[in-house]
Amino acid sequence: MSEANYMANIVGVFGDPVAENPTGVMQNAAFQALGLNWLYLNFEVTAANLAAAVQGMRAMNNFRGVNCTIPHKVAVIQHLDAIAASAQVIGAVNTVRREGDRLVGENTDGKGFMTALTVDAGIDPAGKSAVVLGAGGAARAITVELALAGARAITVVNRSEERGETLVRLLNAQTPAQATFVRWQGAYRVPAGVDLLINATSIGLFPDVDAAPEIDYGSITPGMVVCDVIPNPPRTPFLRQAAARGARTIDGLGMLVYQGAIAFKMWTGQEASTEVMHRALAAEFGV
Ligand code: NDP
Repeated sequence: MSEANYMANIVGVFGDPVAENPTGVMQNAAFQALGLNWLYLNFEVTAANLAAAVQGMRAMNNFRGVNCTIPHKVAVIQHLDAIAASAQVIGAVNTVRREGDRLVGENTDGKGFMTALTVDAGIDPAGKSAVVLGAGGAARAITVELALAGARAITVVNRSEERGETLVRLLNAQTPAQATFVRWQGAYRVPAGVDLLINATSIGLFPDVDAAPEIDYGSITPGMVVCDVIPNPPRTPFLRQAAARGARTIDGLGMLVYQGAIAFKMWTGQEASTEVMHRALAAEFGV
């Protein structure tokens, strides 16, 4: 007979707004699949209350970790005891885990992308040339992980010059990659010889499902691997157009599942079923 244990382990997400964040759907499905007494909850935490929320989490031993989303990804850093190396370079934390009494900040967004790239598509980014559309949080996470994995050249294409140049300066200063900024004006033409083309903007995210980044789609060639960070819908017009030109495509739903599975492992020490997570999210998104 097993001893009763009525104390669930709690994880969740701190954000504002946070009501529509779907991460709990996949995490709770993965906990259930393994029979774990764990629960993922969305916590509405205003910017002014972040310090108190982290303090509260510290005080509750069965509060095992959290994801951080808007507006906390940068602000949370000052409340933690240690920051993982890549999260330090990225300058943002999306996952907090406990290590004994310490709270450690991690960033799993770029790592989720890397798993989709290396495991699902079998692509080693070492020595490759990448073009990344966007320079926000997702672009920062992806470009830093690509650079740390040995990508040779990274071109950041962004509408706002300041954000794009800041990211390129960071990559050139803190990683071995050679980064270049291109201001996004009109239809961007992907140069010949590019291996990876990544949409890391929010263009195409539900409900704007017909929107696509403004590029010259004729410049996509069959040898390219084309990736989108948009998880919902997974088959964006961007990916559909790339596939129509013979390119291999990687969607943002896979990235979302993998970044969640990496956080799951950091919290529980166990491997999540990415199939269960994927199925739960796809059902949630109605795809
Ligand atoms: P940010 O707000 O930090 O950055 C948004 C980026 O998109 C900026 O570079 C912005 O350019 C650009 N952008 C937005 N609209 C346009 C437009 N109309 N034309 C040109 N550029 C545009 O957002 P995040 O980086 O945090 O998130 C971006 C997307 O990534 C979101 O849709 C999010 O859902 C997704 N994401 C997916 C993840 C996954 O696991 N699949 C993980 C994390 C994020 P500018 O600087 O000029 O404003």
